Formats: sequence, C-alpha cells, structure tokens
Amino acid sequence: MDAFRLLTRSANFKKAAVSTADPAARLPSAGTATNPQLFRTAEADELESKHGKKRKRLAVTEDDGAIPADLDFFHTTKRSAAPPTGASTTKDDQTPTTEQRDDDSEEEDTMDEVECRTILNSHKIKVTDLRDLSEIQPTAAEKEKEKESRKKKKKSKKDKAPELSKKEQKRARRMFPQPLVSFKELRTRYKISSRLASNVAEQGFTMPTEVQLSSLPLLLGGSAKNASEPDLLVVAPTGSGKTLSFLIPVINKIVRHHHSGADEHGILSVVVVPTKELASQIVNEGRKLVAGTGVKITLMKKGMRVVESEGATANEESDASGSEDEEDEEEGSKAKGQNNSPVTKSDILVTTPLQLVNSLSANQTKSVASMPLVRSLVFDEADVLLDPLFREQTLDIWRSCVHPDLRVSLWSATMGSNIEELTRSTIKERLEKIGQTSNTLHPLVRLVVGLKDSAVPNIDHRLVYAATEQGKLLGLRQLLHPTAASPSDVRLRPPFLIFTQTIPRAVALHSELKYDIPAEAGGSSRIAVLHSDLSDNQRSDIMRDFRKGEIWILVTTDALSRGLDIKGLNGIVNYDIPNSAAIYVHRAGRTGRAGREGGIAVTFYTKEDIPYVKSIANVIDASEKLRGTDGAKSIQKWLLESLPDLSKKGKQELKKHGVRARQLSKQIGGKEGKDKEQEEREARKARISTKSGFERRLENKKKGAIAASRNRKAAASGDAVSDDGSWDGLED
Ligand code: ADP
Ligand code: MG
Repeated sequence: MDAFRLLTRSANFKKAAVSTADPAARLPSAGTATNPQLFRTAEADELESKHGKKRKRLAVTEDDGAIPADLDFFHTTKRSAAPPTGASTTKDDQTPTTEQRDDDSEEEDTMDEVECRTILNSHKIKVTDLRDLSEIQPTAAEKEKEKESRKKKKKSKKDKAPELSKKEQKRARRMFPQPLVSFKELRTRYKISSRLASNVAEQGFTMPTEVQLSSLPLLLGGSAKNASEPDLLVVAPTGSGKTLSFLIPVINKIVRHHHSGADEHGILSVVVVPTKELASQIVNEGRKLVAGTGVKITLMKKGMRVVESEGATANEESDASGSEDEEDEEEGSKAKGQNNSPVTKSDILVTTPLQLVNSLSANQTKSVASMPLVRSLVFDEADVLLDPLFREQTLDIWRSCVHPDLRVSLWSATMGSNIEELTRSTIKERLEKIGQTSNTLHPLVRLVVGLKDSAVPNIDHRLVYAATEQGKLLGLRQLLHPTAASPSDVRLRPPFLIFTQTIPRAVALHSELKYDIPAEAGGSSRIAVLHSDLSDNQRSDIMRDFRKGEIWILVTTDALSRGLDIKGLNGIVNYDIPNSAAIYVHRAGRTGRAGREGGIAVTFYTKEDIPYVKSIANVIDASEKLRGTDGAKSIQKWLLESLPDLSKKGKQELKKHGVRARQLSKQIGGKEGKDKEQEEREARKARISTKSGFERRLENKKKGAIAASRNRKAAASGDAVSDDGSWDGLED
C-alpha cells in the first residue's frame, strides 16, 4: 500500500474499556477513589503490608480503610464544594501519634536492604548517587562488595575506583533508601512536626505514591543516623504527587528552624515554577499543610520586596501583622510603591523566575540581590526552568541563594540529559564560590520513578488523522457533540483542555467554538480561552471558574501544559500537535492524576504534521506497554514503522518554532511577490475556520458595523467602551 495512505490513516482504535460499558463511572470527574500508585507487584504489597501492619498496631488507630477525601473540584463533597482557598480550618479527631510508641516501631520496622530493594524495584524506583565514585564514602559493605568484584576480575590495585567496569560503577552508585510505607511513618520514623503530620493526615490519602515513598525519606534525613539531606533530582510521572514530596520537607525544615530559636527572619525557602497558575496552585496546597505550624507561604506578586535592598533599613518592616493571609493581598496591591513596601515576612516564597529576578534586581547596583537565608530551593518543572527560555533567570536565582547549607531539588516528569550536567556544574560552581570544596557529606542524588520521559499508563491516547485544519475542527466538533457519529469512536466529556500551538490560534479557536455549546447548557460562558497575553486577574478568574466547574472547556497554549492539577479533568485535546515529546507527556498528564483511570488524550494531526508525529507515537506506545497486556493498544506496529524519523535538527526547529505552517501568518509581513503569495496561501490553509473567505469577510463587516453602532451608543451615554464585541479576526 502507498506509504502516504498508510500514514494518513488514523490509528485504528480497538475499543478500550473506557469507551464501552458505563464509561461515566470510570471518568476522572466521577471522583472514584483509585490507587495512586502506578507500579505495584504482589511481592511489594506483601512486604509493605507486613511492615505497615506492624506499625498499625503500634500507632494510634486511624481509619485506614477509608476512601480518600475527594478533593475533586468538579464534585460536590464537603471539602471540594468551595474553590481551594487556603487552609481549611476543620480539624477532625485525628490526633498525632504519641512519641513513645514511635521509638519502638522504628526499631522493629526497619527493613533490611533486600526488602528495600524489592519494594523499590517493584515500584520501578531507581535511586542513584550522582557523585564521582571517589567522592562517595564507601560503607564497609560496599567496600566488601567491590573487593569481591575485583577478585573476580583478578585485578588487585590499591585504587579501586578507576578499575570498576561501567556496570560495577553503576551498581556502586545505586542507593536503596528505606521506603515510606505509610504516611504515619512521617511522624513515627521521621519525627516531622506533629501539626504538619496531622495536616497531611487530613488530606485523607491512604498510601504514599511512588515518588513520595522514595523521596520523603531522603529529604527528611533518612533513617541512617548521619544521613545528610542531599541535593535531589527527581523524575516522576505527571500527577504522582511531587508537590507534597517537596512541600513536606521544606515546611518541616522551617518548623525546625523556628523551634531552634534562630533569630532570623526572612525567606527560608523558594519554590520556582514556570507559570503563575502553577505558583498559585502550589501556594494553595502549601496553605493546607502549614496551617497551625507558624510557617507562612506566599505567592510572589508584582512589586513585592523579598530582601532588603542595599542601604535600606530594617525599620521599614512594620511588625503589626495580625492576620497572615490578608497580608499577602496587601503586598500584592502595593505594586507601585515598590520602594516603600515592607519586605515580605514569609518563610516560603512561590514564584516564577522572572517575577523573582525582577524583584531581586530592583534598586540594585549589582545584577541581583542575594537571598542570604534561603536553605531550600525547589525547582518544580525543572527542565523547563533550565531550558534556554528561562535558564539565565533560574541560574540567577540559584546563585543568589548564598547560604552554605542550601539544598536544591529539581522536579519534573521529563528531564533531558543536559539538565543533570547543568545541575552538577552549577552546584560545583556555587560550592567553589562560597569556599566549600568537598561535597562528600552532601550528595547529589537522582531519583527516577517509572520510565523516564513517559506518559502515565492510566490514560487512553488517541492519535487522530484529520488531514487538514478543517478536518481538525470537524473532529473537535465531533468530540463536543458526542451524539454525532464519530469515526474514531472517541467520547470526551467536559471538563477538558484544548491545546493550540500559539496564542492567536487559541484565541481563534475559542471564537470559532464559542457558540457551540447550547444556550440552555450555559452557552458561551462554558468555554473560555487562557493564555499569557491576558492580565493576571483575568487568568486567575478563568482558572477559578474552571476549577469550580463553571467553565467546561478551556482553550489554551502550553501555558497550562505543566503542573496544573485538576483531578476531575476528563481529558485533553491536542488541537495542534505539541512541539516535543516532553510537551506531549505534560499536556496528556493534566488528566489521569493520582492514578485516576478514564482520562483521554486526543491528538489531531494533519498532512503537514506527519514528519513530527513519530516521537509522539513512540511516547504513546511506551505508555501502553507500561500498562501491560490488558489495555488496548492504539498505536499499531505498522504506524510506528511507517512514520518517518525526525532529524535532530528538525526536532530542535520544531521545539523552537512549532509547525511552521501555523506560524506563518505572523511572518508574512516583510515578504514580497511570489513568496508572499505562496505563504499567504499556506497561512490560509492553516487558518482555524469552517467558513469560506467570503463568508468571513461578510461576517467581519457585519460585526464591524454592530460594534461601531454599539460604540456610538456607548459614547453617547458616556460609558466606557468595552472591546469585547469587536472582531478579533481569525488569525489574519
Ligand atoms: P505532580 O506534581 O507529580 O504532577 P501533584 O503534586 O500535582 O502531582 O499531585 C497530583 C494530585 O495527586 C494532587 O491532586 C494531590 O492532591 C494528589 N495526591 C498527592 N499525593 C497523593 C496520595 N498519596 N494519594 C492520593 N492522591 C494524592
Ligand atoms: Mg507538579
């Protein structure tokens, strides 16, 4: 068969369980409790319950069989009816465990290395010390092991490191930390603040996810007596609970710090994230955890001062802070009075790179002011923060944290290999700068859960060939109106997200779809568009309404592809294919959070996209393999084999600019003659509309006339003229 015809066929979907019997019951929005762990084996189950059970008898009883509290914002339960506004004040009867019992349980429940290994392996968790072997102080056991391997090789030299084979070196670097088998261990074994522990308990989670069970012990000091907190690089799937994994240790460290009587006030931890939406989501999560601990977490706002600028005096700090949470709002509104606003008195600052760098460089003679107190620096979505787009700002922030005890942790579901090297060299450079050369007591550890750079196995992927732009629009309408016979048999129920390649395309698609939802169902208010050209207030209003379930369909760009956590999101649509496999992983990962089943990721592709589809098809294929044999496969072998490979250069181009045809309308300006004509033709093809040019012009005129008449009326009555009704032109 003609290769082109093969390629232009949509993946032939076998009916997955999702689209058959009673699909609604399995949707993420149904809020059914699932197992948040993605990888389990019977062996691990047995070991964990053995250790978990022992603890259960020792610890204060809690209702372990309870279904996790549903925090699904699209569901009406007691807790989720309201949007996530800060700390909930309801404390129920979960009393913290008592300390005496804790000590017993610790002794009794420590696992041996074989058990740790079994549990970590079966959850697909791999922990590696990234230091040079010469820097790793070998324990007696490791020395022994290495001796053995040397004997086998019949080599006997004094210096062991250089002679180990690559495989042996890898083995020597592997670590098998004690896994956290239940959240109760946070208190019993790791002695975290009792208030923090009860705040965690209040979330109602029954078991730690993979990333939690492996990273929390490392960050909380481990069970080894002299364990030192490492710098940590974490790659763990989307929706696997990374936020809790970095917030608990950060908060606990600050509680300790406050209790130690240190007379330091100022920012002790900084969490850097790529978007404002993610920052505010993390602050909301954080507020639930800090309630009653005395720790304060703040969202970075425009004009906020985070450190004393040079020459400023301490008396600028007003000390009459009654209600902590209200203070944030005040700080936010002082955007203009930058110089006079008091320095924020928060312990944890959550920020985007640019906002913090702007604040640190305001009123500065040097490039950025330093933040001398920061002990924990967290980069969430670290790979994008260290991508060229944000890299300089992120590194500026990193360098501005000059405290010798700084620990850094980097988190994402995807990490390019360059990130590891960049992290290593930045840490080294920093240590040299502050005069600390040996980092033997302070390792850099890498933690990988599952397969690196892969999509979670619990969502269904649909790759749909739509031939043209028009075809995509038709395909999308079929998703919106599920009664229509759809060739690909996809059923996607709201709420869902639609991703486009650019802001103008998101705006255009939104105006095209605006009236697709019947008035009786809420009409155009059910669909919205969110992108970075909107004001902060507009963005947060839209997010609030989407979380509340008032907006059903949100058209957006990659601004929302990372970090966003809405458990009831039923799916995502890649209206335009993502610019890289990593972005696919993140976009798809907005659904299927915390192990929820039934989420769908639909990707439309056109003829122009064929060169770029293979890496996405590979991701889908890998995730379906992870799922095992029971799931239906949507990517057939023939498709994978016939799709062309993209060169490295092609990949870089795509990552930078996206599919060119969709960018054209921006660039035509300067061109002349035939080139221009040709590009204009292509741009027209890439336009989002089902209407002909003639119809569009007609409509345009009509709208213009209406708007003009409205403006005249408004002007006559003295009202402010809103530009809402004006024609924003579909990309031309
Ligand atoms: P990630 O950052 O890894 O993408 P998040 O930290 O946003 O994931 O967490 C995803 C969702 O999972 C959140 O809604 C969170 O409340 C929930 N969650 C976190 N830990 C658990 C757990 N142990 N059990 C069940 N749900 C959890
Ligand atoms: Mg996250």
